[in-house]
Amino acid sequence: MKTEEEAQKSVKWTKFCPKCGKQTEEFFDSLCEDCFREGITLLEPEHLDVSLSVCTHCGGYFKGKEQTSIEAVVEESVKKEIRKKHGYGCGVLIKGLRTEIGREERRPRVVLTAKAEINGLELEKNVEVAVILKRETCERCSRIAGGYYAGIVQIRAEGRIPTDDELAVAEEIAYMSLDEEDFVSKLQRLKEGLDIYVSSMECGRRISRGVVKKLGGGFSESRKLYVFSRSREIYRVSFSVRLPGFKEGDAVALDNHVFTVERVIEGKGIEGVDTETGEHLFVSAKKLMRARRV
Ligand SMILES: [Zn+2]
Ligand SMILES: [Zn+2]
Repeated sequence: MKTEEEAQKSVKWTKFCPKCGKQTEEFFDSLCEDCFREGITLLEPEHLDVSLSVCTHCGGYFKGKEQTSIEAVVEESVKKEIRKKHGYGCGVLIKGLRTEIGREERRPRVVLTAKAEINGLELEKNVEVAVILKRETCERCSRIAGGYYAGIVQIRAEGRIPTDDELAVAEEIAYMSLDEEDFVSKLQRLKEGLDIYVSSMECGRRISRGVVKKLGGGFSESRKLYVFSRSREIYRVSFSVRLPGFKEGDAVALDNHVFTVERVIEGKGIEGVDTETGEHLFVSAKKLMRARRV
């Protein structure tokens, strides 16, 4: 609004607002500022159609396959709506986003303040946006439920059976190596070791590396095609982790006896000394599969 003095000064260039008849120098879309502000609606939140899905298993929010939050989706829709209404170039700022989940869990409301610059004027509006939540099972959860896996990490040891401690370490490393998307679909304890079924090849490789780094030995990979069609090929990968075998100086328990390893004969067995009797003995590779490092 102009002061009287300013209005006097500009009297020789008299211009009037065509709507309210008030004298003015500045026009916004051919109207005075007041009439322009009065006639414009930044956005009509009731016309916004904001929906996203919530996973009934993990509670995550999703837009398509993308994991997101209610606030992010609302902010995006509000910005889009304002730009659609007032021009794609206009700057929009969203502040004070807050979600209110009331008794009707599937209809949360988000309150926010939207600011935008239109025709050189800053406009602000407090709005409340109604959101529709669709209850679904996300892709990750449905894969877990379906026992999906893309890789198997097989923990074995060279010429012996891995100890319980080693397998516990491997299991811990497996869970620590998971990315947000990854999961362990199954742990299978076997006579000769442990199989860890995982959701991705990369995750299987991370686990194998981690186990070898911590416990020694090495690992190899082998791919097997399990889905094949004209459009796609999907592989499952096995990671064969071999922990080191018995070595000189190890104390080994077998059938209620404990002996110290003196010499390892590759592929045949080991020579050792009974720690109780001092007796020298030879244990075949086959028998060693029942032995444990102590
Ligand atoms: Zn006016
Ligand atoms: Zn889920």
